[in-house]
Amino acid sequence: MKFQVVNPSTGAVFAHAPECTSDQLDAAMAAAADAQRSWGQDQSERRLAMEKAAAAVDAEVDRIAAVLTAEQGKPLALARREVGGVATRLRWFAEVELGPEVLQDDDRGRVEILRRPLGVVAAITPWNFPVGLAGWKIAPALRAGNTVVLKPSPFTPLATLLLGDVLHDALPAGVVNVVTGGDDLGAHMVQHPVTRKVSFTGSVGAGVAVNQAAAAGLKRVTLELGGNDPAIVLDDADPAAIAEGLFWGAFMNTGQACAAVKRVYVPARLHDAVVDALAAIASTVQVGDPTDDATQLGPLSTLPQLRRVTELVDDARRHGAVAAAGGRPIDGPGYFFEPTVLTGVADGVRVVDEEQFGPVLPVIPYRDLEDALARANATQFGLGSSVWTSDPERGAEVAARIDAGMTWVNAHPVSSVEHPFLGVKASGVGVENGIWGLHTFTDMHLVSRPR
Ligand code: NAD
Repeated sequence: MKFQVVNPSTGAVFAHAPECTSDQLDAAMAAAADAQRSWGQDQSERRLAMEKAAAAVDAEVDRIAAVLTAEQGKPLALARREVGGVATRLRWFAEVELGPEVLQDDDRGRVEILRRPLGVVAAITPWNFPVGLAGWKIAPALRAGNTVVLKPSPFTPLATLLLGDVLHDALPAGVVNVVTGGDDLGAHMVQHPVTRKVSFTGSVGAGVAVNQAAAAGLKRVTLELGGNDPAIVLDDADPAAIAEGLFWGAFMNTGQACAAVKRVYVPARLHDAVVDALAAIASTVQVGDPTDDATQLGPLSTLPQLRRVTELVDDARRHGAVAAAGGRPIDGPGYFFEPTVLTGVADGVRVVDEEQFGPVLPVIPYRDLEDALARANATQFGLGSSVWTSDPERGAEVAARIDAGMTWVNAHPVSSVEHPFLGVKASGVGVENGIWGLHTFTDMHLVSRPR
C-alpha cells in the first residue's frame, strides 16, 4: 500500500510513499532492538560511526534538499541548511563527552553516575522541519547508545526516507530505521512493546495522546509541542532597526515554525511605525516557486494549513482587523498566501490566541509594560518569546518575566545544538539539544564503591 505525496507549490500529487504495515513496524522494531545490543556497547566506535554518518549526509545535502523542497515547499537554500544541520548535529553529539560524572572521590570511596542507553527510541516528527527535527532526535539518541525507529509526517515522508537511506549505508544495519504512514502508525510506535522512549514533535493534541499512551508502558517521553510566541517591543526600541529581525522571526519557513513570532506587542506610541515597517517588508518579499533562487517564501505546506490560515484571517477581519499588508490566498495553483500584517486586532480573537502557523502576524498595542507582560503570558503555551529594545540589559530583565522556555533579546528564534530548546506549560515536556537533551536519552546509573 502507498499513499500520495503532494507538492504544495503546485497542489499536485508528485510521488507516493509506502504505508508501513504492522508486520513491517514489528520488523523495524526488532531490527532496532537487535542492533542496539552492539551499538550500545562501545562508545568510541559509536562516535566514529556518527562522524562517518555526518560526512555521508554532507555529501547528499543537495539531493535530500531538492526532495524536501518538493514535498514541503520551503526555498531550496533553507532546505539545504536544514539538511546540513543533521550533519552538524551528528558531529557535535559525536564529539560531546557523556560522563561518567564523579560525585565523590576521596578516602571513603568513589561515587559516580554512568549514563546508560534506554534502548529503542520512537522518533516522530511534523511536516514543518521534517529532516532537521529528525536530526535533533537521531543524533543525541545514537550518541547515548540507543537505536531509532523514525516516522515523519505523512505530508512530508520522502526527504526523511532519503535521509534514512543515507544513514543506512553509513551506519550498522538496524541503527536507524525509517517507517512512513499516518497518525495511526505513530500511535502504534508509541504503544509498541519494544519502544523505551518516545521523542515527539508536533501538535498539543497529538502530544497529549502520546503522553497518555506512553504512560501505560512507563516509557520516557520528550514532547516538543506548539507555541504562540509573543514578541514584546519596548518603548525605547527603534522600529526601523528591529523590523527585519521581527519580520523574519515571524515569516521564516512561511511562518510554519513552532518558535516563530506569532504576535507582536508594541507600545501604543510606536504602533504605527512598527506596523508600517513590517508591512513595507511584507509587500516586497518574493513569494513563489521555492526552487527559484530569488524566492524568499514558499507556499504553506499543506492544504489544511492553507484553509486554516485563511479561516483565521477571515475571522480576524470579522472582528475588526485590517490587513496593513497581504490578507488573502494568492490566486493560482499551490498553497500560497500573501505575507500578512494585521492591525486592529487584540487578545480574544483567534489569530492572536491560537497558533496560526502561517505567514500572518498580528500587531497589538499595549498601555504599559505590565499590560504587555500580562497579555504575553495569558496563554496555554510557553515555547519561545522575545524582547526588542535599544537596551539589552533592560531587555534581559523583562525577558526573565515571560513565562516561556526560551526568551531572546533582539532576535527570534535562535536555536543552536549547544543550547537547550524547550517549552513550558502546554508547549512541551522535557528538552532537546545540548547536554540536557542528550541526558534525556539516557538513564542514570549510580555506581558507588568503597576505597
Ligand atoms: P501533528 O501533531 O499533527 O503530527 C506530528 C507527527 O505526529 C506526525 O508524524 C503525525 O503522523 C504523528 N501523530 C499524530 N497523532 C499521533 C498520535 N496520536 N500518536 C503518535 N503520533 C501521532 O503535528 P503537525 O501538524 O505535523 O506539526 C505542526 C505542529 O508541530 C505545530 O503545533 C507546531 O508548533 C509543532 N512543532 C513543535 C516544535 C517544537 O519543537 N516545539 C517544532 C516543530 C513543530
